[in-house]
Amino acid sequence: MVLLALLAFGVPVAVAAGGSGGTEVPGQPVVSSISCPLQPPNSCAAGQQMTVRGNNLHSAQQVTFVGSSPTRDNVVVNLSARAAQPTEINVTVPSRAKSGPVRVSGLIGTPATSPEPVRIVAGLPATDDASGSKKLIAGGKREAHFGYHVSVRAQADARVEAISFTTGKIVRRWPLVKSGDGTVSWNGFDGKEPARSGIYLLRLNDAARPSAKAKAGSDTQFELAEGFFPIRGRHKLASSEMQRFGGGRDHQGTDHFAACGTPLAAWTSGVVQFNGSHGAAGNYIVVRRANGESYAYMHMQQRSTVKVGAKVFAGQRLGRVSDSGSASGCHLHIELWTAPGWYKGGEPYDSLPLMKRLDKHS
Ligand SMILES: [Zn+2]
Repeated sequence: MVLLALLAFGVPVAVAAGGSGGTEVPGQPVVSSISCPLQPPNSCAAGQQMTVRGNNLHSAQQVTFVGSSPTRDNVVVNLSARAAQPTEINVTVPSRAKSGPVRVSGLIGTPATSPEPVRIVAGLPATDDASGSKKLIAGGKREAHFGYHVSVRAQADARVEAISFTTGKIVRRWPLVKSGDGTVSWNGFDGKEPARSGIYLLRLNDAARPSAKAKAGSDTQFELAEGFFPIRGRHKLASSEMQRFGGGRDHQGTDHFAACGTPLAAWTSGVVQFNGSHGAAGNYIVVRRANGESYAYMHMQQRSTVKVGAKVFAGQRLGRVSDSGSASGCHLHIELWTAPGWYKGGEPYDSLPLMKRLDKHS
Protein backbone atom coordinates (compact mmCIF):
# COMPACT_ATOMS: atom_id res chain seq x y z
CA MET A 1 0.00 0.00 0.00
CA VAL A 2 2.83 2.41 0.92
CA LEU A 3 4.74 1.66 -2.25
CA LEU A 4 1.63 2.08 -4.36
CA ALA A 5 0.90 5.41 -2.76
CA LEU A 6 4.43 6.61 -3.46
CA LEU A 7 4.14 5.55 -7.07
CA ALA A 8 0.79 7.23 -7.43
CA PHE A 9 1.83 10.54 -5.95
CA GLY A 10 5.58 10.57 -6.57
CA VAL A 11 5.55 10.57 -10.35
CA PRO A 12 4.10 13.56 -12.18
CA VAL A 13 1.59 12.35 -14.75
CA ALA A 14 1.71 14.27 -18.00
CA VAL A 15 -1.98 14.45 -18.81
CA ALA A 16 -3.36 17.56 -20.42
CA ALA A 17 -6.14 18.77 -18.16
CA GLY A 18 -8.63 19.96 -20.74
CA GLY A 19 -9.44 23.64 -20.77
CA SER A 20 -7.12 24.47 -17.90
CA GLY A 21 -4.28 24.14 -20.37
CA GLY A 22 -1.75 22.77 -17.89
CA THR A 23 -0.37 19.40 -16.92
CA GLU A 24 -1.71 17.45 -14.02
CA VAL A 25 0.42 18.02 -10.98
CA PRO A 26 0.11 15.43 -8.20
CA GLY A 27 -2.34 16.50 -5.51
CA GLN A 28 -3.67 19.37 -7.56
CA PRO A 29 -7.43 19.44 -8.29
CA VAL A 30 -8.58 18.36 -11.76
CA VAL A 31 -12.12 18.80 -13.12
CA SER A 32 -13.19 16.24 -15.71
CA SER A 33 -16.96 16.73 -16.03
CA ILE A 34 -19.96 18.73 -14.88
CA SER A 35 -23.54 17.51 -14.78
CA CYS A 36 -26.97 18.41 -13.43
CA PRO A 37 -30.02 16.15 -12.98
CA LEU A 38 -32.34 15.79 -16.01
CA GLN A 39 -30.10 18.00 -18.16
CA PRO A 40 -27.84 17.30 -21.12
CA PRO A 41 -24.11 17.25 -20.24
CA ASN A 42 -22.68 20.63 -19.21
CA SER A 43 -26.14 22.16 -18.74
CA CYS A 44 -27.63 23.27 -15.42
CA ALA A 45 -30.50 25.39 -14.13
CA ALA A 46 -30.40 27.68 -11.11
CA GLY A 47 -31.36 25.84 -7.93
CA GLN A 48 -30.19 22.47 -9.23
CA GLN A 49 -27.57 20.40 -7.51
CA MET A 50 -24.54 20.44 -9.81
CA THR A 51 -22.04 17.59 -9.64
CA VAL A 52 -18.42 18.35 -10.49
CA ARG A 53 -16.35 15.21 -11.09
CA GLY A 54 -12.59 14.95 -11.20
CA ASN A 55 -9.60 14.19 -9.00
CA ASN A 56 -8.05 15.61 -5.84
CA LEU A 57 -11.18 17.66 -5.23
CA HIS A 58 -11.30 17.06 -1.45
CA SER A 59 -9.27 20.21 -0.68
CA ALA A 60 -11.54 22.42 -2.79
CA GLN A 61 -12.73 25.56 -1.01
CA GLN A 62 -14.63 27.42 -3.70
CA VAL A 63 -16.48 26.83 -6.93
CA THR A 64 -16.58 29.86 -9.22
CA PHE A 65 -19.02 30.33 -12.08
CA VAL A 66 -16.74 32.42 -14.27
CA GLY A 67 -19.42 33.55 -16.74
CA SER A 68 -18.51 35.28 -19.98
CA SER A 69 -15.98 37.80 -18.69
CA PRO A 70 -12.85 36.82 -16.73
CA THR A 71 -13.87 38.53 -13.48
CA ARG A 72 -16.82 40.94 -13.84
CA ASP A 73 -19.65 38.40 -13.67
CA ASN A 74 -18.02 35.80 -11.42
CA VAL A 75 -20.29 34.11 -8.91
CA VAL A 76 -18.43 32.36 -6.10
CA VAL A 77 -19.83 29.54 -3.98
CA ASN A 78 -17.92 28.79 -0.79
CA LEU A 79 -18.02 25.08 -0.09
CA SER A 80 -19.12 23.66 3.24
CA ALA A 81 -16.88 21.12 4.93
CA ARG A 82 -18.78 18.13 3.54
CA ALA A 83 -19.47 19.36 -0.01
CA ALA A 84 -16.10 18.29 -1.44
CA GLN A 85 -14.98 14.67 -1.76
CA PRO A 86 -11.89 13.35 -3.58
CA THR A 87 -13.66 12.74 -6.89
CA GLU A 88 -16.87 14.73 -6.55
CA ILE A 89 -18.22 18.12 -5.44
CA ASN A 90 -21.92 18.89 -5.11
CA VAL A 91 -22.98 22.50 -5.21
CA THR A 92 -26.30 24.30 -5.71
CA VAL A 93 -26.29 26.47 -8.84
CA PRO A 94 -26.80 30.07 -7.66
CA SER A 95 -29.50 32.14 -9.33
CA ARG A 96 -27.00 34.74 -10.60
CA ALA A 97 -24.69 32.16 -12.24
CA LYS A 98 -23.98 32.82 -15.94
CA SER A 99 -22.97 30.41 -18.69
CA GLY A 100 -19.22 29.94 -18.87
CA PRO A 101 -16.39 27.90 -17.39
CA VAL A 102 -16.54 26.60 -13.83
CA ARG A 103 -13.43 26.91 -11.69
CA VAL A 104 -12.56 24.92 -8.57
CA SER A 105 -10.02 26.41 -6.20
CA GLY A 106 -8.38 24.76 -3.26
CA LEU A 107 -5.99 25.81 -0.55
CA ILE A 108 -2.93 25.18 -2.67
CA GLY A 109 -1.93 25.19 -6.29
CA THR A 110 -3.55 26.42 -9.46
CA PRO A 111 -7.35 26.33 -9.67
CA ALA A 112 -8.86 23.68 -11.97
CA THR A 113 -11.18 24.75 -14.77
CA SER A 114 -13.92 22.65 -16.35
CA PRO A 115 -12.96 21.25 -19.76
CA GLU A 116 -16.24 22.57 -21.22
CA PRO A 117 -18.15 25.71 -20.24
CA VAL A 118 -21.40 25.05 -18.37
CA ARG A 119 -24.58 26.28 -20.04
CA ILE A 120 -27.03 27.85 -17.58
CA VAL A 121 -30.51 27.04 -18.83
CA ALA A 122 -33.76 28.61 -17.67
CA GLY A 123 -36.14 26.56 -15.54
CA LEU A 124 -37.36 23.12 -16.44
CA PRO A 125 -36.54 20.90 -19.38
CA ALA A 126 -39.39 19.96 -21.70
CA THR A 127 -41.61 17.44 -19.95
CA ASP A 128 -44.18 15.00 -21.27
CA ASP A 129 -47.03 17.45 -21.39
CA ALA A 130 -46.13 20.33 -19.16
CA SER A 131 -49.05 22.29 -17.80
CA GLY A 132 -46.97 24.83 -15.90
CA SER A 133 -45.74 24.97 -12.33
CA LYS A 134 -48.17 24.80 -9.46
CA LYS A 135 -47.46 25.06 -5.76
CA LEU A 136 -48.19 22.13 -3.51
CA ILE A 137 -47.67 21.43 0.19
CA ALA A 138 -46.66 17.91 1.23
CA GLY A 139 -49.53 16.45 3.24
CA GLY A 140 -51.75 19.37 2.22
CA LYS A 141 -55.40 19.33 1.21
CA ARG A 142 -54.59 19.19 -2.48
CA GLU A 143 -52.52 16.43 -4.09
CA ALA A 144 -50.69 16.38 -7.41
CA HIS A 145 -52.45 14.39 -10.12
CA PHE A 146 -50.86 12.83 -13.15
CA GLY A 147 -53.09 11.31 -15.81
CA TYR A 148 -51.85 9.13 -18.64
CA HIS A 149 -53.11 6.79 -21.33
CA VAL A 150 -51.62 3.40 -22.17
CA SER A 151 -52.21 2.42 -25.81
CA VAL A 152 -49.76 -0.47 -26.22
CA ARG A 153 -49.03 -3.11 -23.58
CA ALA A 154 -46.23 -1.60 -21.48
CA GLN A 155 -42.97 -3.20 -20.36
CA ALA A 156 -42.86 -4.66 -16.85
CA ASP A 157 -40.66 -1.85 -15.52
CA ALA A 158 -42.85 0.92 -16.94
CA ARG A 159 -43.60 3.40 -14.18
CA VAL A 160 -44.83 6.85 -13.34
CA GLU A 161 -42.16 8.51 -11.23
CA ALA A 162 -41.94 11.54 -8.96
CA ILE A 163 -38.47 12.97 -9.44
CA SER A 164 -36.76 15.98 -7.88
CA PHE A 165 -35.60 18.48 -10.46
CA THR A 166 -33.23 19.85 -7.83
CA THR A 167 -31.34 16.67 -6.96
CA GLY A 168 -32.46 14.12 -9.55
CA LYS A 169 -33.65 11.79 -6.78
CA ILE A 170 -36.67 9.63 -7.64
CA VAL A 171 -38.86 9.79 -4.54
CA ARG A 172 -41.85 7.68 -5.61
CA ARG A 173 -42.72 5.16 -8.34
CA TRP A 174 -46.09 3.80 -9.40
CA PRO A 175 -46.68 0.86 -11.79
CA LEU A 176 -48.66 1.61 -14.94
CA VAL A 177 -52.21 0.37 -15.50
CA LYS A 178 -52.31 -2.47 -18.07
CA SER A 179 -54.24 -0.50 -20.66
CA GLY A 180 -56.38 2.59 -21.05
CA ASP A 181 -56.46 5.54 -18.68
CA GLY A 182 -54.51 5.72 -15.44
CA THR A 183 -54.12 8.38 -12.76
CA VAL A 184 -51.54 8.83 -10.07
CA SER A 185 -52.11 11.08 -7.05
CA TRP A 186 -49.19 12.14 -4.90
CA ASN A 187 -49.36 13.81 -1.49
CA GLY A 188 -45.72 14.93 -1.60
CA PHE A 189 -44.46 12.29 0.81
CA ASP A 190 -41.33 10.24 0.34
CA GLY A 191 -42.43 7.19 2.33
CA LYS A 192 -43.54 8.48 5.73
CA GLU A 193 -41.60 11.75 5.46
CA PRO A 194 -42.53 14.84 3.48
CA ALA A 195 -40.20 15.19 0.48
CA ARG A 196 -37.82 18.14 0.77
CA SER A 197 -38.95 21.45 -0.72
CA GLY A 198 -38.08 21.93 -4.37
CA ILE A 199 -39.32 21.48 -7.91
CA TYR A 200 -40.65 18.04 -8.79
CA LEU A 201 -41.80 16.32 -11.93
CA LEU A 202 -44.38 13.58 -12.28
CA ARG A 203 -43.57 11.77 -15.49
CA LEU A 204 -43.42 8.48 -17.32
CA ASN A 205 -40.08 6.72 -17.05
CA ASP A 206 -38.11 5.68 -20.13
CA ALA A 207 -39.62 2.19 -20.12
CA ALA A 208 -43.14 3.65 -20.15
CA ARG A 209 -42.75 6.24 -22.90
CA PRO A 210 -43.05 3.93 -25.93
CA SER A 211 -46.47 2.71 -24.82
CA ALA A 212 -48.00 5.54 -22.80
CA LYS A 213 -48.65 9.26 -23.06
CA ALA A 214 -49.25 11.88 -20.39
CA LYS A 215 -52.64 13.55 -20.52
CA ALA A 216 -52.85 17.27 -21.01
CA GLY A 217 -53.58 19.14 -17.82
CA SER A 218 -51.64 16.74 -15.63
CA ASP A 219 -49.46 18.11 -12.84
CA THR A 220 -46.28 17.18 -14.63
CA GLN A 221 -44.25 19.80 -12.80
CA PHE A 222 -44.78 21.69 -9.59
CA GLU A 223 -43.11 23.35 -6.68
CA LEU A 224 -43.42 21.35 -3.48
CA ALA A 225 -43.01 22.72 0.04
CA GLU A 226 -42.18 20.11 2.68
CA GLY A 227 -44.76 21.64 5.01
CA PHE A 228 -46.60 24.77 6.07
CA PHE A 229 -44.99 27.41 8.27
CA PRO A 230 -47.23 27.17 11.38
CA ILE A 231 -47.69 30.90 12.06
CA ARG A 232 -49.84 32.34 9.27
CA GLY A 233 -48.87 35.97 9.61
CA ARG A 234 -45.96 38.24 10.50
CA HIS A 235 -43.64 36.58 12.98
CA LYS A 236 -40.16 36.59 14.43
CA LEU A 237 -38.23 33.32 14.49
CA ALA A 238 -36.60 32.27 17.76
CA SER A 239 -33.37 34.22 18.08
CA SER A 240 -32.35 34.67 21.71
CA GLU A 241 -30.88 31.92 23.87
CA MET A 242 -34.11 31.92 25.91
CA GLN A 243 -36.23 31.28 22.80
CA ARG A 244 -34.06 28.47 21.50
CA PHE A 245 -34.03 24.77 22.26
CA GLY A 246 -32.26 23.91 25.53
CA GLY A 247 -31.20 27.46 26.23
CA GLY A 248 -29.70 26.50 29.61
CA ARG A 249 -33.21 25.89 30.98
CA ASP A 250 -34.14 22.55 29.43
CA HIS A 251 -36.43 24.36 27.02
CA GLN A 252 -38.07 21.54 25.04
CA GLY A 253 -39.31 23.72 22.21
CA THR A 254 -38.54 26.92 20.35
CA ASP A 255 -40.48 30.20 20.76
CA HIS A 256 -41.62 32.25 17.76
CA PHE A 257 -43.33 35.55 18.42
CA ALA A 258 -46.31 36.98 16.55
CA ALA A 259 -49.22 39.31 17.22
CA CYS A 260 -51.81 37.81 19.62
CA GLY A 261 -54.54 36.12 17.59
CA THR A 262 -52.39 35.26 14.53
CA PRO A 263 -53.72 31.97 13.06
CA LEU A 264 -51.79 28.74 13.60
CA ALA A 265 -51.77 25.95 11.02
CA ALA A 266 -50.65 22.31 11.17
CA TRP A 267 -47.13 22.25 9.71
CA THR A 268 -47.68 18.70 8.40
CA SER A 269 -50.40 16.08 8.33
CA GLY A 270 -51.17 13.64 11.14
CA VAL A 271 -53.72 12.68 13.77
CA VAL A 272 -54.53 14.75 16.88
CA GLN A 273 -53.11 12.93 19.89
CA PHE A 274 -53.77 15.41 22.72
CA ASN A 275 -55.87 18.54 23.02
CA GLY A 276 -55.76 20.11 26.45
CA SER A 277 -55.04 22.89 28.91
CA HIS A 278 -52.14 22.96 31.31
CA GLY A 279 -50.81 25.47 33.86
CA ALA A 280 -47.51 25.99 32.04
CA ALA A 281 -48.33 25.01 28.44
CA GLY A 282 -51.66 26.83 28.37
CA ASN A 283 -53.97 25.63 25.60
CA TYR A 284 -52.03 23.07 23.63
CA ILE A 285 -52.46 20.51 20.90
CA VAL A 286 -50.29 17.54 19.92
CA VAL A 287 -50.35 15.94 16.47
CA ARG A 288 -48.93 12.50 15.79
CA ARG A 289 -47.25 12.13 12.39
CA ALA A 290 -47.25 9.18 9.98
CA ASN A 291 -43.68 8.34 11.01
CA GLY A 292 -44.59 8.09 14.71
CA GLU A 293 -43.04 11.42 15.66
CA SER A 294 -45.22 14.17 17.06
CA TYR A 295 -45.33 17.92 17.34
CA ALA A 296 -46.95 20.18 19.93
CA TYR A 297 -48.18 23.80 19.79
CA MET A 298 -48.55 25.64 23.12
CA HIS A 299 -49.90 28.91 24.61
CA MET A 300 -52.82 29.03 22.14
CA GLN A 301 -55.64 31.56 22.64
CA GLN A 302 -58.29 28.88 23.17
CA ARG A 303 -58.62 25.12 23.20
CA SER A 304 -58.39 23.86 19.63
CA THR A 305 -61.70 22.82 18.10
CA VAL A 306 -59.97 19.87 16.38
CA LYS A 307 -60.78 16.74 18.38
CA VAL A 308 -58.43 13.99 19.56
CA GLY A 309 -58.32 11.27 16.89
CA ALA A 310 -59.16 13.65 14.04
CA LYS A 311 -56.96 13.65 10.94
CA VAL A 312 -55.33 16.95 10.08
CA PHE A 313 -53.77 18.06 6.79
CA ALA A 314 -50.79 20.37 6.37
CA GLY A 315 -52.10 23.92 6.55
CA GLN A 316 -55.23 23.08 8.55
CA ARG A 317 -56.13 25.71 11.16
CA LEU A 318 -55.41 24.46 14.68
CA GLY A 319 -55.74 27.64 16.76
CA ARG A 320 -54.32 31.10 17.32
CA VAL A 321 -51.09 32.47 18.77
CA SER A 322 -51.47 33.78 22.33
CA ASP A 323 -49.92 33.74 25.80
CA SER A 324 -52.10 31.28 27.73
CA GLY A 325 -50.33 29.34 30.50
CA SER A 326 -46.89 30.44 31.56
CA ALA A 327 -45.81 32.82 28.79
CA SER A 328 -44.60 36.38 28.56
CA GLY A 329 -45.79 37.77 25.25
CA CYS A 330 -47.83 36.06 22.55
CA HIS A 331 -45.81 33.34 20.86
CA LEU A 332 -45.91 29.83 19.49
CA HIS A 333 -43.94 27.36 21.55
CA ILE A 334 -43.46 24.40 19.22
CA GLU A 335 -42.00 21.05 20.23
CA LEU A 336 -40.86 18.24 17.98
CA TRP A 337 -40.58 14.74 19.45
CA THR A 338 -39.02 11.61 18.02
CA ALA A 339 -41.14 8.43 17.72
CA PRO A 340 -43.06 7.16 19.59
CA GLY A 341 -43.98 10.74 20.34
CA TRP A 342 -44.79 13.38 22.96
CA TYR A 343 -44.64 11.85 26.47
CA LYS A 344 -45.13 8.45 24.86
CA GLY A 345 -41.45 7.49 25.05
CA GLY A 346 -40.03 9.90 22.45
CA GLU A 347 -37.46 12.63 23.01
CA PRO A 348 -37.80 16.33 22.21
CA TYR A 349 -35.42 17.76 19.61
CA ASP A 350 -34.60 21.17 18.22
CA SER A 351 -37.40 22.53 16.04
CA LEU A 352 -35.49 25.57 14.77
CA PRO A 353 -33.89 23.97 11.66
CA LEU A 354 -37.34 22.82 10.45
CA MET A 355 -38.92 26.21 11.25
CA LYS A 356 -36.23 27.95 9.20
CA ARG A 357 -36.76 25.64 6.23
CA LEU A 358 -40.56 26.01 6.35
CA ASP A 359 -40.26 29.78 6.68
CA LYS A 360 -38.33 29.88 3.39
CA HIS A 361 -40.84 27.91 1.37
CA SER A 362 -44.34 28.57 2.70
ZN1 LIG B 1 -41.17 28.05 24.98
